[in-house]
Amino acid sequence: MQVTEIFKSIQGESTYAGLPCVFVRLTGCNLRCSWCDSEYTFTGGHRMSLEEIVEEVEGLNPGRGLVEITGGEPMLQEREVVSLMQHLLDEGYTVLLETSGERPLQRVPKGVVKIVDVKCPNSGEPDTFLMENLEILERTDEIKFVLSDRTDYEFARDFVLRHHLAGRVNAVLFSPAFSKDASGSRDTSHCLLDPRELAEWMLADNVPGRLGLQVHKFIWDPAMKGV
Ligand code: SF4
Repeated sequence: MQVTEIFKSIQGESTYAGLPCVFVRLTGCNLRCSWCDSEYTFTGGHRMSLEEIVEEVEGLNPGRGLVEITGGEPMLQEREVVSLMQHLLDEGYTVLLETSGERPLQRVPKGVVKIVDVKCPNSGEPDTFLMENLEILERTDEIKFVLSDRTDYEFARDFVLRHHLAGRVNAVLFSPAFSKDASGSRDTSHCLLDPRELAEWMLADNVPGRLGLQVHKFIWDPAMKGV
């Protein structure tokens, strides 16, 4: 697999937020979201075998626990990443897969928690969500909308209601987009959509979703990589 980095940090943006987690960040993405904070994954990286990745994960988290497979878009390396996820499950890890929602997810092993984006209009990558993926979502999975303005919010709200997402998955996450050039202060001034405004909209509409903030951006400098 082509790997950008493997590191241990705090899970930042799901119902697992706040828990220690080992991240396996794979190289490459076929989308170009306007607010992407992972552009450094688009190229480069280094080849690692499944065994080398597992060995590094075990070194960082010998007590098992949480492992997140992320990117870039990890499902671009589907054949190898499916084997890696199954191996980690068999070893007793709780495995999260963070994916853009644009790739088919049928081959993701049962037991992996899928955290699936639906790209909103102002992401620059609207209409990329593969609708067939709705059918394979499980109750343990999570759907995430990253929002930068009212248009995005209304798209997400309507999508959630139209497809009855609240009844299909463990969580529907509404997350304000973060400025990709943010650095320095660790506060909401870098959010492209004010979380307070988003909270007020969600409450007014009784949206069956969970407001999510990227916890790691409030712990470390938002520009820091590998956290
Ligand atoms: S899918 Fe993820 S990694 Fe790819 S461009 Fe969008 S935010 Fe960046």
